[in-house]
Amino acid sequence: MKESYLVKPFLNDDYPLAAYGKGIYLYDSEGKEYIDGSSGAVTAGIGHGVLEMAQVMKEQAEKVSFVYRSQFTNEPAEKLAAKLKEWAPGDLNWSFFVNSGSEATETALKVAIQYWQEKGKGTKTKVLSRWMSYHGITLGALSMSGHIGRRERFTPLLEDFPAVEPPYCYRCPFNRTYPDCGLHCAMELETAIRRIGADQIAAFIAEPVIGAAGGAIVPPDGYYEAVSEICKRHDILFIADEVMSGIGRCGSRFAIDHWNVTPDIIALGKGLGAGYAPIAATMISDKVMEPIFKGSGLIMSGHTYSANPQSAAVALHVLEYIETHNLVEQAKLTGVYLKQSLRQLQQKYPMIGDVRGRGMLTGVEFVSNIFNKLPFAGEVHVARTIIDRAMKKGLLVYPASAGTDGVHGDAVIIAPPLITKREEVDKLVAVFDQTVKEVQDELQ
Ligand code: PLP
Repeated sequence: MKESYLVKPFLNDDYPLAAYGKGIYLYDSEGKEYIDGSSGAVTAGIGHGVLEMAQVMKEQAEKVSFVYRSQFTNEPAEKLAAKLKEWAPGDLNWSFFVNSGSEATETALKVAIQYWQEKGKGTKTKVLSRWMSYHGITLGALSMSGHIGRRERFTPLLEDFPAVEPPYCYRCPFNRTYPDCGLHCAMELETAIRRIGADQIAAFIAEPVIGAAGGAIVPPDGYYEAVSEICKRHDILFIADEVMSGIGRCGSRFAIDHWNVTPDIIALGKGLGAGYAPIAATMISDKVMEPIFKGSGLIMSGHTYSANPQSAAVALHVLEYIETHNLVEQAKLTGVYLKQSLRQLQQKYPMIGDVRGRGMLTGVEFVSNIFNKLPFAGEVHVARTIIDRAMKKGLLVYPASAGTDGVHGDAVIIAPPLITKREEVDKLVAVFDQTVKEVQDELQ
């Protein structure tokens, strides 16, 4: 494009013009093919160019695209809420639809605070979270996010929320080793609650698998059981931010299903619309809804486009598509293969310090010294170099900051669409192999 007035992420960079997509591939206007190894921003779960999605959109647009939620309910939104009730664990039976992951976590924050107000405990207004977390870009969501890089310009406007260290075994913040550590990272939550006072805390929020702020970090077994027990004992709600990890991405419907835990609230986004429509959801349990029904009878939040029929019809069909094609199971199996294949690269390249993840959400962390796990200096911009080089070779991977400061990205996320087949994983990993080889040779 010669002239452009579009504000893009890096204002001085040139971006290729997307022309079309099919399956796990994207093509630019010059005809270059890219393997979508990150599903965009871990979003395009069912792949690109699914023609029946176009049909669903057309049919809904011909009926009605928009009604205002204070004036009408609508069939796609009702059906989508019913379908999500089937998908969700425990008593998470209620869906509040919004348009982005940030809105979903921010709604979760507000619902948690309102829940306690309705129960006569209005002092419970803080939401604890973890350093190395990302819950969204709006001020409420950013207040809960332990991602320094995204917070630092706005800190005067943010609430002082994150409180505990992440369950990051590769670089344990307490220099301990699992399982001898006794899950010190979970016990930290207990300490933080005691310091702050449970009467001040509405909820604890966590990404079941840490995404952008860590690079697919999976906590050790027992962690979620422990934090959930601590939350219950102190009368604190547990919010699972499944914006990235949910909707089959981690080889289960919700990532939290891997553990024996039911959250009180779940935030969804990204894969729910799978890139076909901007839609997200805050799922709320019966337990949380009950005092609100009995009390004010109104959740004090909402957006003009909340529960619009057009986006709801898309999301409903995304879930049906995932069911019909058995994509949750496929993601589980292919995810194991993807992680194994990346671990083989780890044997070849000392700059790969760690390979981790669950299902089709995997992370690769880079180190300058494999023995002492020293990260690369910030000026090297190692993750950015890998991402740029992979893109030149026709592979898209996603940035993640693995440093506890949330500024320096020493990890990338590899999260292709759930539909990816083993042969396509081989193709993806082969390009990643060449990319890492090239960058490692240069850095030596
Ligand atoms: N929560 C998590 C775990 C995310 O990964 C993201 C986005 O990356 C968000 C919330 C914010 O979602 P959105 O960018 O749709 O506002």
